[in-house]
Amino acid sequence: MGEKLWRMSGKNDGLRGRKISYNCKYSKLCGAKVYLLFKYDSDDAELYRTTSEHTHDDPKCRGLTDSTKEKVIQLLNDGVNKPKIILSTIKECGLEEPPIRMLKNFLFHFRRKQTE
Ligand SMILES: [Zn+2]
Repeated sequence: MGEKLWRMSGKNDGLRGRKISYNCKYSKLCGAKVYLLFKYDSDDAELYRTTSEHTHDDPKCRGLTDSTKEKVIQLLNDGVNKPKIILSTIKECGLEEPPIRMLKNFLFHFRRKQTE
């Protein structure tokens, strides 16, 4: 398992052992996920992988963080579409405030996707 590819997302004790789940380090929304199963009756850990390939955006092109993106989409769905108002709401929510250029870029691509 590549060390730098995954980010731990949680653990829970199941019937077969303790399961530690990992998301793709670039995005929790990415389809690729793995988990390690530490069986109660053995010292070995088994690695399981979802069949999904990575679906995250290229990290170099990535602008907004997932939580900021979710908030922006939620605001757009509520009918809020002025970049300045979106930015100040993001700030109020304690989320990472992106540069307005990045937000406008995101809005542009988001709207284009909606009308396709
Ligand atoms: Zn990924």
